[in-house]
Amino acid sequence: MSGTYVVRTFGCQMNEHDSERIAGLLEADGLEAGDDVETADVVVLNTCCIRENADNRLYGTLGHLKSLKDRRPELEIVVAGCLAQKDREVIAERAPHVDVVMGTHNVHRAVELLHERRTAGRPVVEILSETVAEDHELFPSALPVVRQVGYAGWVTIQMGCDNSCAFCIVPAVRGPEISRPFGDIVDEVTRAALDGVTEVTLLGQNVNSYGRDLTVRARHDSSDRAVDRGFLLGPEAASDDDRVRVRPLFAELLRAVGSVPGIRRVRYTSPHPKDLRPETIAAMAEVPSVCEHLHLPLQSGSDPILAAMHRGYTAERYLERLAAARAGIEDLAVTTDIIVGFPGETEADAEATLEVAAEARFDGAFTFVYSPRPGTEAAERADEFVRREVAAARMERLRSVVERSSRLGNLSRVGRTEEVLVEGPSRKDASRLTGRTRQNRLVHFDPAGPVRPGSYVTVEVTDATTTHLRGRMVDLVAGPSHRVRIPVAAE
Ligand code: SAM
Ligand code: SF4
Repeated sequence: MSGTYVVRTFGCQMNEHDSERIAGLLEADGLEAGDDVETADVVVLNTCCIRENADNRLYGTLGHLKSLKDRRPELEIVVAGCLAQKDREVIAERAPHVDVVMGTHNVHRAVELLHERRTAGRPVVEILSETVAEDHELFPSALPVVRQVGYAGWVTIQMGCDNSCAFCIVPAVRGPEISRPFGDIVDEVTRAALDGVTEVTLLGQNVNSYGRDLTVRARHDSSDRAVDRGFLLGPEAASDDDRVRVRPLFAELLRAVGSVPGIRRVRYTSPHPKDLRPETIAAMAEVPSVCEHLHLPLQSGSDPILAAMHRGYTAERYLERLAAARAGIEDLAVTTDIIVGFPGETEADAEATLEVAAEARFDGAFTFVYSPRPGTEAAERADEFVRREVAAARMERLRSVVERSSRLGNLSRVGRTEEVLVEGPSRKDASRLTGRTRQNRLVHFDPAGPVRPGSYVTVEVTDATTTHLRGRMVDLVAGPSHRVRIPVAAE
């Protein structure tokens, strides 16, 4: 294929990561990245349906693309991702000008589907109901990639989710939990490090249950067991027959990934509070490259609401786990996700969330107004939906509680010298640079000479606000080693 493509992503890191892989596949097929939708030959919309009114955004964008396609019939439009998985026929019906509709389990088929569309001369819809567990090549991380930045990369360690949180559409659109083989993840990180990636973020919906399914597969695999176990479960499991009874722990993965040469920072998202294990805390404390940042989604501080959400913990248990993490990991920053206005949430429930949020002293939070996702349990409780203005007022109060602790957290860094991974010039003031500390705090600072994105520098923090730190550069610790664009070929 020749021409240009544009991928527009709506949604979470998983989607961003899938988009990088779709871009990688299109480039491997001969297309080049284009600047804008108006001139591109192929436009991919990678959709999300976890929150908000994703449908309206998608159909709004598709409306605009329709007028473009009327003018340029050769334009090819692909709709991928969660919303495509959920709304398959609806998209084909409402937007017949879409050329390919593909789901979350067939990111690897993007190019073939475009070719099929051309051969067939009519739109192609392919939605697989689940990922083929045996085919680990289907993990988005195993595909070619065009990374958004050359020095940092996402690595999917697990797809889908086996939990059943009452508000969440993920299990329906991403399927059951499948762990990527241990050896495969370490190989991917090693290859990325050779390409100059120094920071990796491990992605999964519940990283602490990583490996549960792999043990079952290792047990049932009778051929050349040691090799298979090593690949599936990690080298330690391969060395001892009895170890196959023990599933590989996320903690072991952190240790293995964290010791890959060239990897200076390891992050991950998200651990589920009910499964946050002491081994994970120990690995975070002991492996120098694992960053002192824990994103631990709370969702609510009210026990009745947590029970109705099927989260599997109480507020007290959450705070205990958090205290254990803070006690075990020096200088830990903690962020969270909280939903406001879950069906049936009372003033007392909302108040409980404020109290827990204040006690948890979060350094930041993604706060969401509950949005009913058709097909989920909570969406059936329409008679208990919280009125929009009530939810908005509760959100306001929650935000001010979180802002207070994030501001205090940021202020506590003033006077310290922090290691910063440089992202580039600050958007508001191009004479300054922007980057992130190990705790994932945003820093704007005055450079001491030219510094390229991907460099590690030390910065003395001179000031702080609710959202960021300010400071001045002290030293260059390490320059970047990545090339500007990195096509990573999968083996
Ligand atoms: N697996 C992660 C966990 O268990 O916390 C969360 C993954 S979800 C993709 C990201 C966040 O979206 C959730 O933590 C939740 O706060 C939010 N979210 C999910 N469904 C939602 C809904 N129906 N309405 C509002 N927020 C929602
Ligand atoms: Fe959704 Fe719950 Fe699974 Fe997270 S753990 S993806 S919130 S079902």
